[in-house]
Amino acid sequence: MTFKDQRLAFAEILKEDYPPEEINSFFYILTEHYFHLNRFETHQKDDAIFPKEKELQFSEILKRLKEQEPIQYIIGETEFFGLPFKVTKDTLIPRPETEELVELVITEFRESTTSLKLLDIGTGSGCIAISLAKNLSNAIVSAIDISEEALKIAKENAQLNNVSVEFIKSDILQTSRLEESYDIIVSNPPYVRDLEKKLMQPNVLDFEPEGALFVRDDNPLIFYRSIAILAKNSLKPNGLLVFEINEYLALEMTQMLTDLGFTFILTKKDIFGKDRIIQCNFK
Ligand code: GLN
Repeated sequence: MTFKDQRLAFAEILKEDYPPEEINSFFYILTEHYFHLNRFETHQKDDAIFPKEKELQFSEILKRLKEQEPIQYIIGETEFFGLPFKVTKDTLIPRPETEELVELVITEFRESTTSLKLLDIGTGSGCIAISLAKNLSNAIVSAIDISEEALKIAKENAQLNNVSVEFIKSDILQTSRLEESYDIIVSNPPYVRDLEKKLMQPNVLDFEPEGALFVRDDNPLIFYRSIAILAKNSLKPNGLLVFEINEYLALEMTQMLTDLGFTFILTKKDIFGKDRIIQCNFK
């Protein structure tokens, strides 16, 4: 079997499950991961023998892809904000929309010359906290999560990216006050309502951690409200609270933050034109 045979086998076996471009992209992600070959180099190897010892591994991977398992879990890593991140079934796979939140915070604080204290609530793989630590050299970054397993991965990711982040295990819904004050509090908490499950793909529903995604239909802002209340007491003067939000709940979010006394509330759309980020101050 050659590399080309293997590529054609992918196209054939997965043709009912994914569009052709996606199947190609899986194949190139795998040749990059297991053989360190980019797309071009993979094609150059078209007629080369595909190593026997990898054949079994690739057929196992095909089975997992057929069952809709995300490729990021299969290879155990992904890229976010140009940085490598380990991911497991205990961590949500970082989304491109979340890169925009990171970008926004960097833009806002890039010029800052004083040290910045930053807290990420519900850090998961650590993608927000770590990419901010990497890009804001003045930032002292802490990150909270309820999941011991996620924190373990987040710690590995901080090491992998050579940044120092303080990780804290804590249930934000049971926290009555934060120990310190912060210039920036960010969070991408669970925000998908149960009623939206039917709009979601099996690769998300069957594989990603439920606790990181879903909230009950009758109390969808539960995490945001708790975090905003904590932030009221813990943001420094001119500090910024930034959330990733459910695209359908921007108005409810604005209302809730207004009721709590936040000012300069600004909603921003993501690359897909959906309300995705909200930022505000508390004076
Ligand atoms: N944007 C993610 C999704 O739609 C959800 C992330 C979250 O709940 N914080 O899958």
